[in-house]
Amino acid sequence: MKKVPISLIIDDPAPIISVYYEHAGITETRDGRPLVPTYSNDLFFRFCDIAEKRGLKGKFSVVPMPGNKGDIVHGLDGVADAELKAWLEGVKTRLMPAFSVGPEMLTHHKAVDLATGEALPMNERDWASTQDRTTLTPYIEKALSLLKEVGIPSVGVTSPWDFGIEVEEEYEAAISAAVSRVSNSDGAWFFLRALRDRPNAKPWVALEEEGRTLVAIPATLRDRLWPTIDTPRTDAEYVSEMADILITADGTKGEILDVLNSGSYPILIAHWQSLMSNGLGTGLRILDEVGQRIQLHLSHRVEWMSFEEILELVLSDKAAYPKPRF
Ligand SMILES: [Zn+2]
Repeated sequence: MKKVPISLIIDDPAPIISVYYEHAGITETRDGRPLVPTYSNDLFFRFCDIAEKRGLKGKFSVVPMPGNKGDIVHGLDGVADAELKAWLEGVKTRLMPAFSVGPEMLTHHKAVDLATGEALPMNERDWASTQDRTTLTPYIEKALSLLKEVGIPSVGVTSPWDFGIEVEEEYEAAISAAVSRVSNSDGAWFFLRALRDRPNAKPWVALEEEGRTLVAIPATLRDRLWPTIDTPRTDAEYVSEMADILITADGTKGEILDVLNSGSYPILIAHWQSLMSNGLGTGLRILDEVGQRIQLHLSHRVEWMSFEEILELVLSDKAAYPKPRF
């Protein structure tokens, strides 16, 4: 039996800075602890350890101007250059190529005036909703170029929130054109939509234009690590119970199994803030447990793939990946 692709989406990472703290508009967790504005490199390296140990592959965002606090090329407000460099080095040497890295547009906060670099008075999601390919293309090019300047080549992008969903065809054309210009690739991937609770949920060919192909890769599962942000619980029982939602310790039940058994590709999703768990790293421990259970029980059924490997898979048999109805 041919193995089914499995992949892990990590949304919202940036060096040290928590884009969640910057854009969430809150200062406390739901249980009343101060929301932390930064995550240490120690936590970042713990993620790298787990990814390597469990053989995880997927997509890892790098927000290039996180929270409108500078950029990864010229430096970030409140972040030591050595820390920034160590974080980017870790992405390049420990996460790539198992994880395909791409920008999650520029700031995941306020939209940027490309002419001045200043923040506009609305967030990127609201800004994108009224744009077309003529303005979206240079915006995406800027994001890809910042990653390229620090030595991270990228052929795909992630949508902050549901950036571009109101103008999806324009957005798709803009991604394909921007990836072609900055990265010289005719193939590109992007993540915007989720396909959940439905059979045969798979990536699809979103656009074919001028010899270029854009592939949409959806999340097919939910971020079950998110509740760790709002609880001080870190005990082993909690970690095990949270992992059970995705896959039980005996490997017989859980949402990953449900997705797999419905003919869909399991494409998991976690956010940087849900792995960091307001500095406690509880989400990292749950991911480690889930990764171990997949290794133990599903290795004969699934094969971890990066987004670039999924892109290649779709490009090799485009007819098998038609656009679904939403
Ligand atoms: Zn995001």
